Amino acid sequence: MSEFSLPGDKVATIEEFETGDNTFDDGHTIRSVVAGTKEFDKTRRIANINRFKSPAVPQVNDLVIGNVAALMNNMFAVNMLYINGKPTHSGLECICQARGAKKRIIARVSDVVMVKIISHLNGAIHATISEPELGVLFTQCNKCAGKVVQIGGNVKCVDCGYIEERKLSSKFGNGDFIKLGSQ
Ligand SMILES: [Zn+2]
Repeated sequence: MSEFSLPGDKVATIEEFETGDNTFDDGHTIRSVVAGTKEFDKTRRIANINRFKSPAVPQVNDLVIGNVAALMNNMFAVNMLYINGKPTHSGLECICQARGAKKRIIARVSDVVMVKIISHLNGAIHATISEPELGVLFTQCNKCAGKVVQIGGNVKCVDCGYIEERKLSSKFGNGDFIKLGSQ
């Protein structure tokens, strides 16, 4: 029998075990109420299901690394890939305020950025990029998709020479950026 259970799956018989966390007894069989992993307390003869953790939602002050998914007037959306250095597959986005984005380029779509969560408001996850270590970790030339190098607060394409602004992270250029968000 699999160690995983879906709601309604048979977990054990009532002769073997009694119901514990997230289980019910249909008169013959102990079944799971939730999706999770089975855990049997053999001493007390109780069958439990440990509920799978719900999709990872970052908490305030968590560091998130992800791809810029969309740019708006004063904010941009980040498709979250890592929370505190741990991969997340939730497909959730956070919204990052980008004050002054009308005057300068903070990031481009598909840039890899590190942001910090500041609040959960109106059903959205809000983040900031306004700290030295926060910002763009990886980007490419907006003209030719070439490799870029940092020149002050700008990036310059090594292929075509195009220069463009970014809000760069102090960790920009560190290829091991996935580990940067670990705490
Ligand atoms: Zn270029």
